[in-house]
Amino acid sequence: MSASKTARTDPMVQPAPRLIIDLAAIRRNYARLQAMAPGARVGAVVKANAYGLGAMQVLPVLADAGCRTFYVAHTAEGREAREALAGRPAEIFVFNGFWPTDLAALREAELFPVINDLHQLHQLRELAPDLPCAIHFDTGMNRLGLGPNATQTLIDNRDWLAGLDVRQMLSHLACSHEAAHPLNARQLERFSRIREAFPDIPASFANSGGTMLGPRYHFDILRPGLALYGGPPSDDLPNPFEAAVRVEAPVLQVRTIAAGDCAGYGAIFTADHEMRIATVATGYADGLLRACGDGGFGRIAGTTVPIIGRISMDLTTLDLSNVTDPVEPGDWVSFLGEDVGAMAETAHTITYEFLVRLGQRFQRVYRDTPDTAD
Ligand SMILES: *Cc1c(COP(=O)(O)O)cnc(C)c1O
Repeated sequence: MSASKTARTDPMVQPAPRLIIDLAAIRRNYARLQAMAPGARVGAVVKANAYGLGAMQVLPVLADAGCRTFYVAHTAEGREAREALAGRPAEIFVFNGFWPTDLAALREAELFPVINDLHQLHQLRELAPDLPCAIHFDTGMNRLGLGPNATQTLIDNRDWLAGLDVRQMLSHLACSHEAAHPLNARQLERFSRIREAFPDIPASFANSGGTMLGPRYHFDILRPGLALYGGPPSDDLPNPFEAAVRVEAPVLQVRTIAAGDCAGYGAIFTADHEMRIATVATGYADGLLRACGDGGFGRIAGTTVPIIGRISMDLTTLDLSNVTDPVEPGDWVSFLGEDVGAMAETAHTITYEFLVRLGQRFQRVYRDTPDTAD
């Protein structure tokens, strides 16, 4: 974040909040992941509109950075991804399984289903054996994929895969954000054992957090989402990724309140000394989660400005005590950016949820500054 103050808006124009999305940061995060795992290919998880940042803008950037493998949750997201890629070569996998009524859509947009159970496998064999697919093994998360019994059945009946075009075998870590969690090693061991049964199928195991766990977790294809967008993938390790999204909200009013005065709905905040406060034009309708009111903060030219009182739908009040410069209507306050993890914590949630809940009302500004040689 730049330390200089963002230029004030035109005083004749009603100021509105905007979302600044840094496409160059996403490109650098992709390159960083590739550098962390030189022996693997780096795919990109772009479900939920690229974690809220905008599939249409984000996917071409990733493809042009060298990404050839994309993952979405729904078939409809896959169609959107194919459209966003505008002819760039890419495999697109759909996590949520093979469902026969999707077959035409899968073929039309050239999407590859991820098989999550043996029933789906048999349906694929019957209806579309030529359609490339992936197989998801559940190695301990107990969420999606072939569980231990189905996995053993498939290992014992490997010929079921004969004639199918299985492009990947994958599994997903439940606890990759906690480096020392014992389930990580247990899932790795199970996945490695399954892999021995299917040595010719490229293997994908690590999400963002898994990438941080070291080369044993990398296999052939990484499957990061959060790290691409700059979120912190690990609770214990420093975040090597660059924030790619921030909110900029304009100040609408500045006032001085006396000791004993309150601010906002419910009068839950009371000043204990005279203080200067600002009201900015963003609120929970924009995804600034109401739960952030306790401990959340924005920044003016890098200086933190704590949120006081309740966040309302369109407005948020801030304590300007840390700011020595004058603050006036039209000045910009930024939120999230590299603080997104801390903000999520104040709201008792995770960066992921914060990103995907960023609102539709923002003006979205996509910046793509060329990389400087360094
Ligand atoms: C969402 C998801 C990912 C990406 O996880 P991040 O923690 O965002 O890197 C990878 N694999 C599967 C199966 C997922 O559902």
